[in-house]
Amino acid sequence: MSVIKLTNRIKVMERKPMTFMERLYFPAILKGMSITISHFFTKKATIQYPEQKRPMSDVFRGLHILKRDDKGAERCTACGLCALACPAEAITMTAAERTPENKHLYREEKYAAVYEINMLRCIFCGLCEEACPKEAIFLQNDKMAPASYEREDFIFGKDRLVEPFLNSKS
Ligand code: SF4
Ligand code: SF4
Repeated sequence: MSVIKLTNRIKVMERKPMTFMERLYFPAILKGMSITISHFFTKKATIQYPEQKRPMSDVFRGLHILKRDDKGAERCTACGLCALACPAEAITMTAAERTPENKHLYREEKYAAVYEINMLRCIFCGLCEEACPKEAIFLQNDKMAPASYEREDFIFGKDRLVEPFLNSKS
């Protein structure tokens, strides 16, 4: 007999005696093993990441990319609107004016000489993408910021953000 106290009242419960089959334990072990074995033949929920990757959702927001235009010039004009819109204050940049020598590299007179995103601050909200009037920054839906043991590795500069030139449209 066991006694269970519920608030200020006492409820007395009879302990149900075990049946003969329950006392054998063997049927319960067999039942458990059958459940385990049945999982050998079902589709596995785990994958061998990072060698295997799951398809991302179309609305997944991952690593940023700074896009180039059709001629391969950087679209970003260092207007700063993405940094203003960023709730995490993760974006910093330094603007510069293009010169006759580098004019083919940048679409407009001003460009970002330095553009950095602190991925440890970023919450991948996508507000920078929405704020950009030049369609220069996007969050990719198939790439994540890689893991690292060093904090400095999470400061992504232009070398890791700008779309590779060879991949730009010709
Ligand atoms: S995704 Fe959001 S938090 Fe990350 S840099 Fe853009 S605006 Fe900032
Ligand atoms: S990414 Fe867009 S919003 Fe941000 S500085 Fe460049 S042009 Fe302006």
